[in-house]
Amino acid sequence: MFEGLTAELIDLGAPTFDMQDEMQWWVDGRPLATGPSAMTVLGAGRPLLETAIRRRVAALPNVDIRPETAGTDLLTTPDGTRVIGVRAIAAGEEITIDDASMVVNASGRGSRTRHWLGRLGYPEFEEQRIETQVTYVTRRYRRAPDQLDGRYGTAIAAYPGNTRGGFALAQENDAWALSISGSFGAVPPMDDDDMVAWAGELDCQDVATLLRTCAPLGDPVKMRYPASTRWRYDRMSRFPAGFLVTGDAMCPFNPVYGQGMTVAALEAPILGRLLKDGSDDMAAQFFTESAAFLDVPRITAAANDLRFPDAVGDRSALDPEPGAYLDRLRATAVSDPVLATTFLRVPQLMDTPAALFKPEIAARVPT
Ligand SMILES: Cc1cc2nc3c(=O)[nH]c(=O)nc-3n(C[C@H](O)[C@H](O)[C@H](O)COP(=O)(O)OP(=O)(O)OC[C@H]3O[C@@H](n4cnc5c(N)ncnc54)[C@H](O)[C@@H]3O)c2cc1C
Repeated sequence: MFEGLTAELIDLGAPTFDMQDEMQWWVDGRPLATGPSAMTVLGAGRPLLETAIRRRVAALPNVDIRPETAGTDLLTTPDGTRVIGVRAIAAGEEITIDDASMVVNASGRGSRTRHWLGRLGYPEFEEQRIETQVTYVTRRYRRAPDQLDGRYGTAIAAYPGNTRGGFALAQENDAWALSISGSFGAVPPMDDDDMVAWAGELDCQDVATLLRTCAPLGDPVKMRYPASTRWRYDRMSRFPAGFLVTGDAMCPFNPVYGQGMTVAALEAPILGRLLKDGSDDMAAQFFTESAAFLDVPRITAAANDLRFPDAVGDRSALDPEPGAYLDRLRATAVSDPVLATTFLRVPQLMDTPAALFKPEIAARVPT
């Protein structure tokens, strides 16, 4: 979508590294086998990435960005069947925009769409929700290249029996982004000694060592993420014309799987094509097309979330047989780099879960 973006971010100092060979993954309390994976991580912090994207979007001739402006409601035709604009607060003043041919809500996981549509008399829509009560504390630290034996990162995933996790990822400007996370009421602390103690309880000491030895570059930031939710706009019986919802505003994911930006980026070209076509049925087409690929990341994330006994969600569709097979696959991926690569490709949305069950992969998994 943004030609030259990767090169620009590398020029600005974002390191690139092999996701499996140059960082260490801990899954179910065990380190996955390392080896070349052909999956490249671009270690760009969110502000760097968003600034580069924003600059490119702002340069488009037909784009007008209004900063510090918050949409507060939808404006519709009197019968409520077509959205014609938004009400918004800009610099403390209420403004209205009422000449829109299409309003797209891309306001992220705090989206107010369901309240807005409810007020307009639209029926409640189906909500699929899995509660995991994830909390992250993230802080940037000064990085030296010889730390972690030259590796660029460590990811320590929570698993049933241990709801704590930790991440270290190399980023631009010789920085580490260090995160500690907890689920189901395990809330990571924010002061230095307690963060080190929390990370010290993880199965791998990399994050604790870096927290103890690196100089902080800013304050820690806490982020709470109570639940993954999928609002089934694709199943609504009535929906106003001239309006649609995308990205986290439609389906926010548990951030531990790192899927949300990829999903939003996959939805954008669908939206672009439909906007070019200009059909009045745009929302229905958009929701149907995105629902088709949303199933895969949702099922991948749900299957793992629901392994935790405290996760609140619908387990009726879970089949215990593949669960036991995947337990064995993860255990064997400690010594088999091919299994480790296959396992890592699925949450990265580079393969579907079907890749885990291919005969050549199943043959490597003990029965
Ligand atoms: C801790 C954490 C770690 C994550 N890690 C990863 C990761 O490694 N990989 C990955 O792919 N995803 C990750 N995600 C998920 C990812 O951040 C989201 O899925 C992605 O940003 C969704 O993009 P979006 O454009 O839909 O929403 P957002 O990026 O949330 O953007 C929404 C925008 O709308 C604006 N806005 C909100 N309300 C209004 C309003 N009323 N009016 C006007 N503007 C409004 C906001 O200010 C914001 O700029 C992570 C999320 C969290 C919380």
